[in-house]
Amino acid sequence: MNSGEFRRRGKEMVDYVADYLEGIEGRQVYPDVEPGYLRPLIPASAPEEPDTFEDILNDVEKIIMPGAASPACTELETVMMDWLGKMLKLPDAFLAGQAGEGGGVIQGSASEATLVALLAARTKVVSRLQAASPGLTQGAIMEKLVAYTSDQAHSSVERAGLIGGVKLKTIPSDGKFAMRASALQEVLERDKAEGLIPFFVVATLGTTSCCSFDNLLEVGPICNKEDMWLHIDAAYAGSSFICPEFRHLLNGVEFADSFNFNPHKWLLVNFDCSAMWVKKRADLIGAFKLDPLYLKHNHQDSGLITDYRHWQLPLGRRFRSLKMWFVFRMYGVRGLQAHIRKHVQLAHEFESLVRQDPRFEICAEVTLGLVCFRLKGSNKLNEDLLERINSARKIHLVPCHLRDKFVLRFAICSRSVELAHVQRGWEHIRQLTTDLLRAERD
Ligand code: PLP
Repeated sequence: MNSGEFRRRGKEMVDYVADYLEGIEGRQVYPDVEPGYLRPLIPASAPEEPDTFEDILNDVEKIIMPGAASPACTELETVMMDWLGKMLKLPDAFLAGQAGEGGGVIQGSASEATLVALLAARTKVVSRLQAASPGLTQGAIMEKLVAYTSDQAHSSVERAGLIGGVKLKTIPSDGKFAMRASALQEVLERDKAEGLIPFFVVATLGTTSCCSFDNLLEVGPICNKEDMWLHIDAAYAGSSFICPEFRHLLNGVEFADSFNFNPHKWLLVNFDCSAMWVKKRADLIGAFKLDPLYLKHNHQDSGLITDYRHWQLPLGRRFRSLKMWFVFRMYGVRGLQAHIRKHVQLAHEFESLVRQDPRFEICAEVTLGLVCFRLKGSNKLNEDLLERINSARKIHLVPCHLRDKFVLRFAICSRSVELAHVQRGWEHIRQLTTDLLRAERD
């Protein structure tokens, strides 16, 4: 949608809301739809090609408004998470479908998804151990629980451990910044010998620093064998898995208990929208279910009603799936794939520009839209270059440390980025580099 159409559609939406408010007395107070009413009314998967805005808005009136408030909000979310899961070719076990044990929920952030997974895993292991040894107290188990993640994982994983009150250990990553089986196994064996209880592993697909990928095909089977919950954090990279050529990066997801990524990062859905799937929703509900009288349904819970308050930390929730519905239909799967492909291609363009300049080196494999690079030379030199780049205020780069190296990160993010922007950015960096090196010499 270009800016002209956006202005027009935005104004139409204001009219729609105003008409709704003016006519509110004529609307039904309580929806008369039955649980499960929405799924048969919409297609089973996202359209390949874009739908028109008119069609989507007509469907809002026809499909959403009769299930006003909660039923529509919940049911559209379940179906959108199935649509998205199918786009990623997630194993069926993660989809809700009509009678599946799994399903998706929209959380606010990847941090929340990791925390929710950790808390569910904690409850599960405590119940399992108490069932086996009824004398064991929760406290005695909790103090022995250990979670694991790689040394490249996002800090939100460490925070989940802090909030969840369990030990978290970091596994040294390999030369490609990936968590491998051997390193995990080594720490596990040591911990088990000391009487600790390994229960939770977070694998990252697309790490924040350099977009590296933990080796799921190695780590997954260990988690299954050791009865540890495997959560996958693909906050950024997950969007790319809708493209067949990147789907292999998700191989091994079948070993996971939960999987999460942020469509708000790279799939054109506005903030916030963090998509989380679990194979067994009973594991989440088991951890978080409380049913005070004021939250009981009029409908007796026949098992047909999904109650997302048991899948998350907050009680109240937004109608975030509407954003997904609009974006998936406005772009179609092909439009979304084209968006991802363009960014990856631009990242490779930038990479080849960097490689042509012998003053620079590429510091990690470029797989998606992130290029890690640095000037050959000291960390101080690179810190000075970053300082010049960011204080010139034409582009903004965020650095990272890869092992002991200070590294610059060029991330392709914007919906409207073009090759010319990337080329201009690189020319700017080259010019500042020349100035810096001259100043160093003088
Ligand atoms: N995990 C990874 C790999 C990330 O890159 C990030 C943020 O950049 C996060 C988690 C945290 O995401 P959120 O802000 O959704 O909690």
